[in-house]
Amino acid sequence: MTATGNQRERDTASAQLLAQLVTEIENEREFALQLRRELHQHPRLSGDEADSRDRIARATELDFTPVAETGGYCRFGPADGPAVAIRGELDALPVSEQTGLSWAATNGAMHACGHDVHMAALATFVRAAKRVTLPYAVVPLLQPREEAYPSGASDICDSGVLDTLNVAHVIGAHVHPRVLAGQVATGAGAVNAASGEIRIEVEGRTGHGAYPHDAADVASALAAIALGLPEVLRRTVNPLSPALLSVGRMVADSGAANVLPGKGTLHAMLRTTQNEDAAVIGDAVAEFARHQAEAYGVTATTTVVQGEPVLFNDAALCDALEGLLGQAELEVAPAMRSLGADDFSFYSQQYPSTMSFVGVATPDTVEDGPSLHDATFLPDDDAVLRVAKTMACGYVAAVQQIQKR
Ligand SMILES: [Zn+2]
Repeated sequence: MTATGNQRERDTASAQLLAQLVTEIENEREFALQLRRELHQHPRLSGDEADSRDRIARATELDFTPVAETGGYCRFGPADGPAVAIRGELDALPVSEQTGLSWAATNGAMHACGHDVHMAALATFVRAAKRVTLPYAVVPLLQPREEAYPSGASDICDSGVLDTLNVAHVIGAHVHPRVLAGQVATGAGAVNAASGEIRIEVEGRTGHGAYPHDAADVASALAAIALGLPEVLRRTVNPLSPALLSVGRMVADSGAANVLPGKGTLHAMLRTTQNEDAAVIGDAVAEFARHQAEAYGVTATTTVVQGEPVLFNDAALCDALEGLLGQAELEVAPAMRSLGADDFSFYSQQYPSTMSFVGVATPDTVEDGPSLHDATFLPDDDAVLRVAKTMACGYVAAVQQIQKR
């Protein structure tokens, strides 16, 4: 057969596979909605997700091997050959739910980032996929500690299990309140930033507020450092590669108006769109803080903590996924790029991967409805099926990529 003939045959097979998965996902509607509500009502914080993992294991009737302590993985489908991993995050946030739902969580934690939807969607996809003849194995990855350090994704990558399982691609999907329901945003290349934290400890000499010439107080030095940070960025990295420093914590507290503080701290969040920029910025900030402190007669010590790398969507996989969304009655939204961070990026650095942002907004909420991590953030019931279908598109896109090798 000709090369084009082969390609046509593969396209037909892909379309059939996706159609079967979508039909089976639709058949799971009742189960999917009920499981999502159950998971929503019983959120577990980062590092305490074993219950949620075990619930998914029961729902999928699969044996999950523990990984990263409270996470789990398994492999089903063809025993040999490459596999496609699909990731679902397990953890909730320390947020007190304000949705007023009858199935709201009451334990002080909340699935305010939509991970209840992702878990239920992954379980739904798995139940659907088990009833379909799959060309390549599926590895459902139940990942703990997405919201806290140490990152669960980093631990799973370090464990080496993905290589042992012969994972070729990793697929992720996340609900998004700034994308309309029915649409899915992806985008080739960097879609989320590398994340880090910069901590500056400033030390001087305390004293009486009326005798500042006898002291070396730190308040003005801290303020000067904070105001100079944007300028440090501007002089350090190419503005065509966005980077950001946001000060989230600045403390210089003597406890009284007439006592000059002798110690202070500044914590800033660092985001970059080039992995290598983080270290360069850290060094530049340390030098700037040292000199700035010197000018005020105090000292500054800077520590840089590296978090996630850049989340990079593989162009070919991303294109293939976008080409399939229509067959699952989903529309392609404009690419979603932000300086947000997600530890899915650890997978994307090692395997050609793709993260999709699945819309949960209505026309009324798309501009300024509750954001992720808000105590009233609540994706609609059908979001579970849309995320599951996006995972199915991701799986079939990965199958197409494997077949091209
Ligand atoms: Zn999340």
